Amino acid sequence: MTAVCYDPLSQAAKDKLFATASYLKADDLALLERACDYAFRAHDGQVRKSGEPYITHPIAVATEVALWRLDAKALAAALMHDVLEDTGVTKAELAAEFDDSIANVVDGLSKLEKLEYASQAEHQAESFRKMVLAMVKDLRVLVIKLADRLHNMRTLDSMRPEKRRRIAKETLEIYAQLANRIGMNPVYRELQDLAFYHLYPNRYQVLERALNKWRKSRRDVVTTVLRAFTTQLVAFNIEGQVKGREKNLYSIFSKMREKQLHFSEVMDIYGFRVIVQSVSDCYRTLGALHTLYKPRPGKIKDYIAIPKSNGYQSLHTTLIGPSGLPLEVQIRTREMDEIAETGMAGHWMYKSQENVRDPASIRTHQWLQNILDLQEDSDNAMEFLEHIKVDLFPSEVYIFTPNGKIMVLPRGATPIDFAYAVHTDIGHHCVGAKVNNALAPLRYQLHTGDTVEIITQENGNPNPAWLSFVVSARARSAIRSRVKNMNRHDAVALGEKLLQKALQSLLPQKLMVSDDIKEKYLIDLQKKNISFEDVLFDVGMGRTLPISIAMRIAELAGEHFDDQVRLNPIKITGNESGSVHLAPCCHPIPGDEIRAVLIQDQGLVIHRDTCPNIVKIAEDATLDADWESISRQRQFHVRLLVSAHDGQGLLATMASSISANQANIESVETPSQKQEGTDGFIEFIFGLQITDREQLEHITRDLMSIPQVRKATRL
Ligand code: MN
Repeated sequence: MTAVCYDPLSQAAKDKLFATASYLKADDLALLERACDYAFRAHDGQVRKSGEPYITHPIAVATEVALWRLDAKALAAALMHDVLEDTGVTKAELAAEFDDSIANVVDGLSKLEKLEYASQAEHQAESFRKMVLAMVKDLRVLVIKLADRLHNMRTLDSMRPEKRRRIAKETLEIYAQLANRIGMNPVYRELQDLAFYHLYPNRYQVLERALNKWRKSRRDVVTTVLRAFTTQLVAFNIEGQVKGREKNLYSIFSKMREKQLHFSEVMDIYGFRVIVQSVSDCYRTLGALHTLYKPRPGKIKDYIAIPKSNGYQSLHTTLIGPSGLPLEVQIRTREMDEIAETGMAGHWMYKSQENVRDPASIRTHQWLQNILDLQEDSDNAMEFLEHIKVDLFPSEVYIFTPNGKIMVLPRGATPIDFAYAVHTDIGHHCVGAKVNNALAPLRYQLHTGDTVEIITQENGNPNPAWLSFVVSARARSAIRSRVKNMNRHDAVALGEKLLQKALQSLLPQKLMVSDDIKEKYLIDLQKKNISFEDVLFDVGMGRTLPISIAMRIAELAGEHFDDQVRLNPIKITGNESGSVHLAPCCHPIPGDEIRAVLIQDQGLVIHRDTCPNIVKIAEDATLDADWESISRQRQFHVRLLVSAHDGQGLLATMASSISANQANIESVETPSQKQEGTDGFIEFIFGLQITDREQLEHITRDLMSIPQVRKATRL
């Protein structure tokens, strides 16, 4: 075979590829040379829309793949990724010339013959399905496809506007998400920005200008922060590197669109990254930076202890920087940084992909296995493509009814959202749920593919606590309006209960308040258009004292009673809505000693008996209260202050200890920056959802058994 003579443009591209691929061994470089020549010959004479020789495209794709340090076979396949589609070469020839694995990867990257399909959309869907199936067998297909798409997007300008928009939309919906799913963050961000540029050119330019202006005005602050960080690391004897980093335009744009913000209101445009030597240095850096600038409460995220599903690891925190500017900081080791930048590909660096068995690869394979399942559930390629989009865009979940009907719900949807989506009455009467045939909590977060069956009861009613976890607008508004109506019903029932208590405290035996007595009482009142229910409603709402009504009624019934009134404690279930409130100052939970106070137009407010707010109130204006021992659906909110010696994995250890007690963690805050030297105390405030005092005591005890923990107290 004669030597191939490259034109200057192609030769320059080839030189760049070989410079990038210099990590390969000699015989691997020889394979690369052979693949390059083969592709060059196959594409000889073809030009791109931009006028450049076609071969510059596959070479650029291979160069991108080399930047991610993939093996020689992957690079060879990248060079030849278009030969089956656009030239006369067949898969068998390719396999004979190279080997089966290279031929299979190239075949996976090739579209199907157009002839067989009625529409372009169908052809694309079918080709996409073929690629996904190939990618399940060999992940290199996916990585090369992303490099291919990246280069096509970078050189999209020469395409017709409508084709540009179609490709940009597909990139945003599928390829950017695929990159995100395997943790290739820079690819994800670049694909998003390129797609944004081609989809909304005007908005892109306006935003870019605004960002440039902003960048100039903030340059000083950024320099100050970078310097302060670096000095602080030195002071704490931590070896590390500090970098500034800007959010990509598309993510700023999405945030503005989602939250309806003006550019000037998007605060978190600039972030910082600190790269250190070891995991323990990550936690030490966190401590060091928290003594430099005040951390924003509740913004610490420990993705080192609990990595994201794409393998991403880092500590995140937000600090309040100079002139109140929020500073988002990521802290991680060099290895974590590499994985964050190249994702899956980072795990394959310098090694052949064929025998990789690290956890990240296994996770990716599991995800691909799910995709295979989607493929089996799909009737045709178009449906499969839709399924994939849903899977990649987890903003919606698809849930099945027991008879196979599909309901689309927002991400995070619970069985309650599902119940209201089926029918408002099902929602109102929902008392339980089965997810995939097993009983599940009503706050359970549903996943695509779950089959949900709602258990209803005639006298079931929505619990206002549901409002804290439902996500669909439909469920939310239905619960709200029902609860509003229920409030009167509830207040009347409470009024009745309070009146009975008052009567019992006056009289030795139970008194049935007959209609006759009610009638007399109303006449006595000398008010027009008032029913006895209105009277009870006023009692329930705290507008009238029950004891005064009870005395009058006892008189009307001809009963004698002591002036010495002794009230029995009023029973609280904790499931009440409307006219019984748990005081927001002391957050009483079942098991606490409690007292109640009737507040005008609110009803009964329950405090812990030690709450300063109830201690202030004269004792005879309060009521003894007690918890009814029933099983509760409701979760109660408590805040727990934990003071501990900061150390590696502390937050994670505490979090898993709390979860082991079946409590939900709603929030974690670090309110203060109490530090004693480098490894001093740190305070955390956990917002928890728990069922009762006993559970809280277990949580506190277990937290105290963690060696670093000094103190755990309820706030
Ligand atoms: Mn291509």
